Amino acid sequence: MMSTDLEEKNGKINNSLRVDFHCHTTCSDGHLTPSEIIDRASNYQIDQIAITDHDTISAISIAQQHIAEQQLKIRLVSGIEFSTMWQNFEIHVVGLNIDCNSPELLALIKSQQEGREQRALLMAEKLAKAGFENCYQDAKLLAKGGSITRSHFARVLFNRGVVSTLQKAFDKYIGKGNRAYVKPLWCSLDEAIEVIAKAGGHSVIAHPKKYDLSTKWLRRLINDFKQANGHAMEVVSGQRNDQQRDFLIELCNEYHLEASVGSDFHFPNRWSDLGKNLALPENTSVVWQHWN
Ligand code: AMP
Ligand code: MN
Ligand code: MN
Ligand code: MN
Repeated sequence: MMSTDLEEKNGKINNSLRVDFHCHTTCSDGHLTPSEIIDRASNYQIDQIAITDHDTISAISIAQQHIAEQQLKIRLVSGIEFSTMWQNFEIHVVGLNIDCNSPELLALIKSQQEGREQRALLMAEKLAKAGFENCYQDAKLLAKGGSITRSHFARVLFNRGVVSTLQKAFDKYIGKGNRAYVKPLWCSLDEAIEVIAKAGGHSVIAHPKKYDLSTKWLRRLINDFKQANGHAMEVVSGQRNDQQRDFLIELCNEYHLEASVGSDFHFPNRWSDLGKNLALPENTSVVWQHWN
């Protein structure tokens, strides 16, 4: 296809579809069940949504079944958000339009889940030393069999009145450099990209502005991601900042990556919502052209 044709096609996709390719359910640290997420997205007339829970795909079949039962016209794109380690930074890689039966994908999910369990136990030990007993048990109850995350530990500390906001739980205890922080044993960036590719999916650098990387380090990350055959980068995530978005689109163009968009919605709040403020300029080359 000629590049002008491709641009026209992308532009059309951009304008005609409402999409959100990053959100969470109760299968990881989201507060809405898979069915509730689908209903909310459907009510907002979102055309395509990807559920991208942390290191799990448990929500996908539940959400798909709900769509079928309710005969909704929303399209679910299967997704996942892998936690990876790159240069001592925890970098999140979203996989989109993946085959949920891929053996390599299922194997990586299993080892990531084991890493989550181990880290949770060690984190609980450190919290116990800080005077807060039984945090693992409580976090596990909140996780209800889904991926156990630091968000659950933050909620435990918040529910016990130890901290007045979830953010403070990260800032005081479980965030990097704080007393109950445990260095996780995530897979490498390259491994996540490879496994997503083997599952027939497209890999996306999640929320590039959330890692506190200087521009120099962000470029290094993008360069390594591209070298490892990564596909795309989120250029809008949650709150909208046109300047940041345009800068990230420029970086996508420079490194020949496609753009993706996602709210990273976890629960209803004042700042972000499913499908909100995610529009892109018309001629942006978008990752979802591959399945449209
Ligand atoms: P985990 O993957 O278990 O390390 O948990 C990471 C999750 O915790 C993220 O996906 C966010 O939902 C949440 N989180 C991470 N850092 C913060 C922070 N500083 N403040 C609030 N929530 C955070
Ligand atoms: Mn999360
Ligand atoms: Mn993330
Ligand atoms: Mn996320």
